[in-house]
Amino acid sequence: MEIIRTSSEMQKRALELRAAGKKIVLVPTMGFLHAGHASLIDIARREGGVVAVSIFVNPTQFGPNEDLDKYPRDFKHDCELCAEHGADIVFAPEPAEIYSPGHSTWVVEEKLSKGLCGRTRPIHFRGVATVVTKLFNLTQATVAVFGRKDAQQALIIKRMVRDLNMPVRIVVAPLVRDADKVALSSRNRYLSESERIAARSISRALLAAEPTLRPETAADAVATVRAAIEAAGGKIDYVEALSADTLDPVTAGSRSILLAVAAWFGPTRLIDNVLVEF
Ligand code: AMP
Repeated sequence: MEIIRTSSEMQKRALELRAAGKKIVLVPTMGFLHAGHASLIDIARREGGVVAVSIFVNPTQFGPNEDLDKYPRDFKHDCELCAEHGADIVFAPEPAEIYSPGHSTWVVEEKLSKGLCGRTRPIHFRGVATVVTKLFNLTQATVAVFGRKDAQQALIIKRMVRDLNMPVRIVVAPLVRDADKVALSSRNRYLSESERIAARSISRALLAAEPTLRPETAADAVATVRAAIEAAGGKIDYVEALSADTLDPVTAGSRSILLAVAAWFGPTRLIDNVLVEF
């Protein structure tokens, strides 16, 4: 497995691979990899090209009071996991490799990024769309795999690729849960033992709502999930049921619903969702 640290080397290698007729499958991550990330690498592997995993804690997607400085890192373990799952390249640049001094060009999606996480994290998706565009350019990816854990992010990336005619196919992978059903996340590392137990209320409530989630039950589901998380001591950022492909309000004609949560347990903000298609 190759480890590449600079943007120039990454792009040079990618252009060589493409010139040799190879397909490049990118898995963008912020590192501190877990089984959710591993499932993305497995899916990327099945695409049959050269699998590149990027590990980059992207500063521009963090707000001023967010957890950029304490975001967990373990590069050695990340490389072991990538190698075990058959990644060919790990691209792990420092921020200075990605952002030149005076960087002033941004990619902004203007509809899907307004609600849900965009309401409390107003610059977040601008940072995500910009860094993903840069990663596509640096790795010359033909396919990129994203997780449904970040359902809004995956939708925004798909919209960006469509709107800007980017020659990349986006694959959205299922959400992977831990044994206690909590959605796997690098940020789970921040939770104390009691917060972790309380945080199970999110997935418990979402998974309980899932089997009967329909346009006519969506409002009740939101109220029930909200109450369950609050009863466990969580502070709600949002609980919303939206049409899953547009993030518009659910109507009687909606063919799919995304029931999405962001909630705080102590200092840790967690997100989770269920998606029902009918
Ligand atoms: P992150 O490192 O948190 O930025 O995540 C990198 C990629 O892994 C994103 O596409 C996430 O949606 C995906 N991911 C993170 N956690 C999970 C999970 N529990 N299940 C599936 N995908 C995940």
